Amino acid sequence: MHEFSLAQGLFSQILQLAESHGAQNIIIVRVEIGKLSGIVADSFSFGFEVLARENELTENAVLEITEVDPVKTCIECGGIYPSNEKIQGQCPDCDSLNFTLTGGDDLILTQVEME
Ligand SMILES: [Zn+2]
Repeated sequence: MHEFSLAQGLFSQILQLAESHGAQNIIIVRVEIGKLSGIVADSFSFGFEVLARENELTENAVLEITEVDPVKTCIECGGIYPSNEKIQGQCPDCDSLNFTLTGGDDLILTQVEME
């Protein structure tokens, strides 16, 4: 299960952070999951829960997931547009059909609140 190994990776990052801050308790973990990443947020969340409940530091931790849209960049004019779907349609500024998509394909740990 892809999401579970991702959750494990994230989890070890969090534990390292907690250790380096001398934290006793992880309160909130915020992550961004790109919509193009193929990661199923629910599965990821489930994996995290399983791991979190087994550890004193994280047993009360709340995972907050933000799903992030990729950004569409026009190759012709350099315009940047929000995009919540695959490349399609024309550039609103120059009518080009050539775009690149950036972002939206990562799992990023954005914030950990701990005490
Ligand atoms: Zn353009």
